Amino acid sequence: MQQHLTIFDPFDGMRFGNHICFLCGTTVTAEEQTTIFPTWLMQEYGLNQELLRLLDQSVVTYESLKVPCCPTCQTQFLQPLEEQVQAAVRQGVAGLRALDEKLLFQWMGKMFYGTLITELIKEQNPLVQPEYAVSEQPKMLMKFQAFFRVLQSLRVPMEFADFIPASVFVVDVDAAAEPSRFEFRDELSTMMFSLRLDNALIICCLLDNGMIKDALGPVWQVVESRQVQPIQAAEFSARVFYAAYLLNVIPDYLLRPLKPTDDHLVMDTLIDDVTNVIFNPWQHSSYAKLLATVWSKWGITPEDILRNPQEPLSMLFSHEGEFIEFPAIPGQSS
Ligand SMILES: [Zn+2]
Repeated sequence: MQQHLTIFDPFDGMRFGNHICFLCGTTVTAEEQTTIFPTWLMQEYGLNQELLRLLDQSVVTYESLKVPCCPTCQTQFLQPLEEQVQAAVRQGVAGLRALDEKLLFQWMGKMFYGTLITELIKEQNPLVQPEYAVSEQPKMLMKFQAFFRVLQSLRVPMEFADFIPASVFVVDVDAAAEPSRFEFRDELSTMMFSLRLDNALIICCLLDNGMIKDALGPVWQVVESRQVQPIQAAEFSARVFYAAYLLNVIPDYLLRPLKPTDDHLVMDTLIDDVTNVIFNPWQHSSYAKLLATVWSKWGITPEDILRNPQEPLSMLFSHEGEFIEFPAIPGQSS
């Protein structure tokens, strides 16, 4: 098989460590590392010294979060991607929406995966006994393994047959009154990763083959065509995070057999939606809890949200289903 078309699978034998390039598996020195959050992003948003809490509750700075990475992966694969995304970010929402979704998937996916393997490398240390060990959750490891197969498209030329592995939303937010220019949220178990960069909110489910985007189609159509208020963007984000929580199937990815003349891989996908329902049923009570966490900064409680138990409070749509241009926030006179 063509050497440059060989896929690395660190989950096969759990090959994670400080001397293994996260992307290709080559042995690296302790100094050969790349930051999880790209340098230009940390500079642009002043993140270097900002603090972040990991799964094991330890608190670290953004700039200290690094993964082992060989010079080839760094210069040939990551750097060119960063340049493209940086140029797109400069053009705001329009620039990000014009980017190939595959690139946004890879870009968000690399940061997600970086935070994930930081946890996995820590867990290899016998002195660390996390309460919630990712490496001891077989179902989660299967998800991460499937995800990493398609994330290999970062370094191995790869065509996705008729799918895109993720749901990617770029929301246009009126962020003029927001206190910070940057927000970040991730959730390992649901493969969710979101970033707000000024008025662009990027929300990704990294392993759903676009099923969440399909399911939220009608809502997304309305949100996509407008600039929304921060409280509305938060509601939309809660809907995506909740849908990811309800997602009940894990896509699998299979390589097409290579011919000697092939210059790239073709990946097919398989979803077991015959024996499984794709989404578990939506429950207003659990959705309201999730929504309350993102709305807490507006002082909205789960009780406010479920005043009508049949119809959770929405800042996006009126009772009649019309988009709300200027939402009135409960308890605040406007
Ligand atoms: Zn490498």
